[in-house]
Amino acid sequence: PALPMSPPSLKTRDRLSEVRYEIRGELARRARELEARGRKQIKLNIGNPGAFGFRAPEHLQRAIADQIARTDPYTHQQGLPAAREAVARFYKERGTPNASPERVFIGNGVSELIDLSLRALLNPGDEVLLPSPDYPLWSAATILNDGRPVYYSCLPENGFLSDPEQIESLVSSRTRAIVLINPNNPTGAVYPRELLQQIVAIAAKHGLLIMADEIYDSITYDGAQFQPIAPLAGEVPCLSFGGLSKVHRACGWRVGWAVLSGDPLASGDYHHAMDLLGALRLCANVPGQFAIDAALHGEDTITPLCEPGGRLYEARRAVVEAVAASRHLTLVQPAGALYAFPGVTGPAARDFDDHKFALELLETEDVLVVPGSSFNVPYRNHFRVTLLPQPEDVREVFTRIERVLDRHAER
Ligand code: PLP
Repeated sequence: PALPMSPPSLKTRDRLSEVRYEIRGELARRARELEARGRKQIKLNIGNPGAFGFRAPEHLQRAIADQIARTDPYTHQQGLPAAREAVARFYKERGTPNASPERVFIGNGVSELIDLSLRALLNPGDEVLLPSPDYPLWSAATILNDGRPVYYSCLPENGFLSDPEQIESLVSSRTRAIVLINPNNPTGAVYPRELLQQIVAIAAKHGLLIMADEIYDSITYDGAQFQPIAPLAGEVPCLSFGGLSKVHRACGWRVGWAVLSGDPLASGDYHHAMDLLGALRLCANVPGQFAIDAALHGEDTITPLCEPGGRLYEARRAVVEAVAASRHLTLVQPAGALYAFPGVTGPAARDFDDHKFALELLETEDVLVVPGSSFNVPYRNHFRVTLLPQPEDVREVFTRIERVLDRHAER
């Protein structure tokens, strides 16, 4: 039969209309358009170390190169046994209860595991407690797996930390999990031990799975101490996420892991569900898995970057100093991770719209930042920058930001 001239256009999944990922969204598209016309930009939107000249440490590269000839076959769906053993050993050493290679799931980045772990958990209408601000994949994956995000606030006036009383007030009969991102993207908050203990107590009382996105675990500044939550959680089921993308600057390799801990009886069929979903996608990228042992048990290459004189430390210092000198900005100093999340105050904040501001900054000053509301906050006066550029680029960016905010203040 003859093909119709104009077939009806395809319909997509309805709930996609609820999903946003603006880190790579409209603004980034507009930036590429301007770039193609020859405009030179400073892009602070993506936490992509490789794009700022960082390389994965050589001993990780070597681990893959040496074993590349062995990477052809599919592996077990949860990952290479040797890689899972390396992850389990690292988590056992930090005191994770009942961590074992059988409870490690290796994925194509933490991104894949966030999706998979929520898919394994949620029935339609189930609720997930998410931080606001969040890393927006957590919201997206909750929605696309038929769940409902319920946000607990991490307010700037509270150092972007959560309030356990508020968290508990949001628990309902449909709540299944509590997510925390520590150290936090986008705010840089690092959770103190007492707060983590209070979150554990809520999870224990209400039978929730703790989902701890700890992908920035050893990126901290000025003596801030990262405390993993799993060792505090005892028998409470906990899924801890980590990977090579940030701490080891190898995000293109797509390697992440999730470690299930706590009482195996309390996690019921969850292990089986994760294993089944893992099997359906066969296995994760194999070459990258050969770098895991070297990453977790080789030389520490991240700490020097986070100490005075190190690039991340100096970029962070440049942000802090620029905000201190600004007439319009405030900042909760990031204690960890790769971002700062400044707020706009005073006359410049009148009728402020973070999206319009980000667009204006791009169009007039060739600087790309991410509007704060992209991270699911109800306020519209924040934006996120990464700490990955050279410190002098950070200073230049904040000079340009100040210029735009001066104009806002005069309007
Ligand atoms: N979780 C957080 C908080 C992140 O910031 C990111 C990436 O920026 C991810 C997870 C995903 O990382 P990957 O998929 O590269 O492991």
